[in-house]
Amino acid sequence: MSDQQSETQHFSRNWQQQLAEAFNTIDDLCRYLEISPLDLPVSSAAAGNFPLKVPLSFAASMEKGNPNDPLLRQVLPVNDEMISYPGFSNDPVGDIPAAARAGILHKYHGRVLLINTGSCAIHCRYCFRRNFPYSELQLGRQKEKAAMNYIRSDAGISEVILSGGDPLLLADDRLKDLLQQICAIGHIKRIRIHSRLPIVLPARITEEFVGAVSSGSVQVVLVVHCNHANEINSRVISVLERLKNCGVALFNQAVLLRGVNDNAAILCALSEKLFAHGVIPYYLHVLDKASGTGHFEVSEPEALALIEQVQAVLPGYLVPKLVKETAGASSKEYVCK
Ligand code: SF4
Repeated sequence: MSDQQSETQHFSRNWQQQLAEAFNTIDDLCRYLEISPLDLPVSSAAAGNFPLKVPLSFAASMEKGNPNDPLLRQVLPVNDEMISYPGFSNDPVGDIPAAARAGILHKYHGRVLLINTGSCAIHCRYCFRRNFPYSELQLGRQKEKAAMNYIRSDAGISEVILSGGDPLLLADDRLKDLLQQICAIGHIKRIRIHSRLPIVLPARITEEFVGAVSSGSVQVVLVVHCNHANEINSRVISVLERLKNCGVALFNQAVLLRGVNDNAAILCALSEKLFAHGVIPYYLHVLDKASGTGHFEVSEPEALALIEQVQAVLPGYLVPKLVKETAGASSKEYVCK
């Protein structure tokens, strides 16, 4: 069977099967990309700390033979991850002190975040939660009742954010049940879902999921996570347009990453492509200083200079807000001079 035929077969399978077939070794990914691992600064120690995981849908958007591909750089375990940078830590944004109880982070006024699962479809090397103690702090079935009681007991909470890990790794039934429980709490006005799956595993956006998010009594906001225009392939476009046509509000948050998108033309192309398919380019985060990610950092002065270049070219609604998250702060903060 040709590579093309086996890819076609892969993409005809359901999302769970596609996920089960994700790349999980450096050698397999390199073979697919026609790159020798010897030409890359790969690190088995870094892969031991945080294993490689890449769905084919995402890998298929990488340029074969290019060791510097910006999508590859986001997922490849490299030697630089083993360098200890000053100021980088395992809990860079103060998640652990904000854990109100297992499964809930309550940092900001009016919003709580549910840590629905510790699993993701892809392992982004720059992830700020790559060292998060999910086994203690994620929301399991048994902790769900207590979490719902917590939300119910505080009338000041108007928005529930499903996060993780990636909340869209929950099965449709489980997700629907969770959405219904949240919708039944009278003071909740919005449910926000933060997910990278529409970008890296678009098959996850099933008709059942679309039905669940477009039929509830409260508005659903979906924040996707896309860092580079090359991530938006035809499969991604198709699910973004399906969601948009069902009235789901779509926003993007990107992370500014050295060697991936630290260039004004690349940021402009990302905003243009997102917007063309119904997604507002909302946030550009400076890197959260998680251990193992220092090589991705773009300094705040450099980030500001880049955003100024983007502003000079694009209309305001296509310029993402440049933000950072500081442990203990009452909201995200704009990065400014
Ligand atoms: S999908 Fe999100 S939570 Fe998961 S590894 Fe990537 S950045 Fe981290």
